[in-house]
Amino acid sequence: MQRGVMLMNKIDKVQTCTGCGACSFICPKECISMKEDAEGFIKPIIDENQCVGCGICYNNCPQVVTVNKNLIPDKVYAFVNLDEQILHRSSSGGAFSYLANYVLEKKGVVFGAAFDENFRVKTISIESRDELNKLQGSKYIESDLGNSFEKVHHFLSEGRFVLFSGTPCQIAGLYATFNKKRPDKLLTVELLCHGVPSNKIFQKYLEIENKKGQILEYSFRDKAKWGWGNWGSYKYLKGNKEKKIYFPVASDYFYSLYFKNNIFRTSCYECHHASIPRGSDVTIGDFWGAEKLLRGFSFKKGISLLMLNNQKAFDLFWSMTNSNSNIKIQEVLLENIIPYNKTIVMPSEKPAARDIIYEELEQYGFYYVGKKYCKISKFNAKIRRYIPRWIKGILKK
Ligand SMILES: Cc1cc2nc3c(=O)[nH]c(=O)nc-3n(C[C@H](O)[C@H](O)[C@H](O)COP(=O)(O)OP(=O)(O)OC[C@H]3O[C@@H](n4cnc5c(N)ncnc54)[C@H](O)[C@@H]3O)c2cc1C
Repeated sequence: MQRGVMLMNKIDKVQTCTGCGACSFICPKECISMKEDAEGFIKPIIDENQCVGCGICYNNCPQVVTVNKNLIPDKVYAFVNLDEQILHRSSSGGAFSYLANYVLEKKGVVFGAAFDENFRVKTISIESRDELNKLQGSKYIESDLGNSFEKVHHFLSEGRFVLFSGTPCQIAGLYATFNKKRPDKLLTVELLCHGVPSNKIFQKYLEIENKKGQILEYSFRDKAKWGWGNWGSYKYLKGNKEKKIYFPVASDYFYSLYFKNNIFRTSCYECHHASIPRGSDVTIGDFWGAEKLLRGFSFKKGISLLMLNNQKAFDLFWSMTNSNSNIKIQEVLLENIIPYNKTIVMPSEKPAARDIIYEELEQYGFYYVGKKYCKISKFNAKIRRYIPRWIKGILKK
């Protein structure tokens, strides 16, 4: 009984558990459940009375055993989905929706992260294009996988085509449930990810923002006012009128804490998935550095970075893409993009504040930690938004 418990504890001690839940799915005794810890991150909890110490959980944990036969591509792609509506709703260039639409057209199932009615982020599955908007847009919060892995297995067993999108550690977790096989009908799409805060801290932030009025919509990446970049918005109800606030990173406590790397899951700072070869079939992210590396693209509406990490992804992508496809695409050498997007090859650095911030959050509340660790200036942040990127580049130098 003790051995299994000891093994899982070992993972927790090195703090690399990503909460993917592969252990819970695999456990033959079904004695591992996924629960929120004190910081609000999802962690495995073992029922010690049921555990027989077989070690299957530990031996299949993707943080312990890595199986990655992907290629190191020498090139990546700048990608823009030319469907205006899709591009507007997507955080970068709408690469995710392009792949998802193809799978949905084939009567497949698409998994991704969505807000629920309380703005908690959960992984859900959709089967129609009408629901695609739920998955579009980055939510900078850990997505609760719930029973997604069971559902993926179920749909694949029915012979359906499945696209599973998520953070790289979630995709590694999903693969761990397939006993080192990679099903043909499963297409995995990972985001370049520099870290996830917990649903709990986001809820604490929302409690404060909700005082203005009930929040109706929230977006971390709204292009409507300032175009492609890291600026968000939320809509709330004041009396019976709907109001909308747009905010740059530097004028919002949650966003500032996030971009200073202060509030990630501890495993994010040691993420071994932030490396090449990448783990999933396809990798998508923001094509930062576009102004330097590309000609003839509109920077304002957003550009995705797309990586095809194995032959399957390559064949599938080019089979769905022809001269009639409503996209714009350009090859760029991998080595040229890395200086602008370090997340491809390395995890985020852990600031000293991370060790105490969640404790302080518990003791003193969100406003206290926001004020302590971020100097926000609503005025300066807004002025800065109107300075073109190329001028900012010169000013930085
Ligand atoms: C937590 C997080 C960190 C990121 N960090 C970086 C980074 O450092 N560098 C970079 O270039 N890009 C990063 N991205 C990716 C980037 O923000 C865009 O999501 C990506 O460019 C795809 O945009 P799109 O226009 O193709 O599609 P969109 O429609 O914007 O993308 C939606 C996709 O994101 C997925 N998604 C959204 N939120 C989550 C979540 N919380 N957990 C799992 N999946 C989610 C959806 O399931 C869907 O697959 C990050 C995204 C997230 C969610």
